[in-house]
Amino acid sequence: MIAARHRRVTAYCEADQWRFDPRYTQGRCPICGWKPDSAANAPRWLAIANRLDWEMLGLFLLADVLVLLGLIVATAAGLMPAHGAGLGMPSAPGGVASGVRTH
Ligand SMILES: [Zn+2]
Repeated sequence: MIAARHRRVTAYCEADQWRFDPRYTQGRCPICGWKPDSAANAPRWLAIANRLDWEMLGLFLLADVLVLLGLIVATAAGLMPAHGAGLGMPSAPGGVASGVRTH
């Protein structure tokens, strides 16, 4: 039962003597591009993954991370007075904290 199901999804390219799963090669031989007759459709998740533009997605993700990092650094450096007041610390203009008064 399992062997029969496995045989159905794999294809064998006679020219290259290469066995492959057409679901993961867009129904074609990865070496010569030969398309077997019984080309199985790609799984749903792979069809969606192939349609997505992963490079642009990664670029946007990187930009998001950089903005987040900038916000964290700005908050830590006291450049955002609203956040400084929220944390219960006196806001220091210019990011320079005054020293402790000893007198
Ligand atoms: Zn081939």
